[in-house]
Amino acid sequence: MQDYIDLAVKNGVTLFDSGQCQFCGANTKRGIHECLEIFNLGFQEIDFSNIENHIYRFLIVDAHTLQHPEIHGRWNNHFHLSRLHLIFKYGINWTYKLSPKLSDYLNVYKALKQNEFLTPPEILKRGTITTTDIKEKSTNQKSCKELIRKWAMEVYEKWNIHHSIVDEIAKGFLNRK
Ligand SMILES: [Zn+2]
Repeated sequence: MQDYIDLAVKNGVTLFDSGQCQFCGANTKRGIHECLEIFNLGFQEIDFSNIENHIYRFLIVDAHTLQHPEIHGRWNNHFHLSRLHLIFKYGINWTYKLSPKLSDYLNVYKALKQNEFLTPPEILKRGTITTTDIKEKSTNQKSCKELIRKWAMEVYEKWNIHHSIVDEIAKGFLNRK
């Protein structure tokens, strides 16, 4: 999966191949590449065959994407921040079925708001918890889940200047169903 390298080029960002992750500050030796490997392995302490644990998958993807917007398309920020808002503020019990519905809603929204851009928080100021913390500090399923929830909540709070925008999206999405 080299897409992220192309996206970084497109976003005008140079990726560093060593040291800490240049975006989230994770304690890596091979930078963003290692940060993404940890993310892609998906924290094996959690049993994702259990439907009740799917929520952690969504939180992981949202937290990681919003900590690394430079390797994603700009509208991904709307999607992932809106999803976190729906989960945290509206208590929506997110499922795999809801994600394409949110994407569909955002496709209509995008057409109306072509110039809207959610400026990310400064690099390295997107939450203190990172992929390496979760990898190193979660000793069992329970501690892994707790850390993931804290991670996602922290990242969500760091994007708080855009909460009013995603609140409008969340309301529109909920009213549309
Ligand atoms: Zn990172």
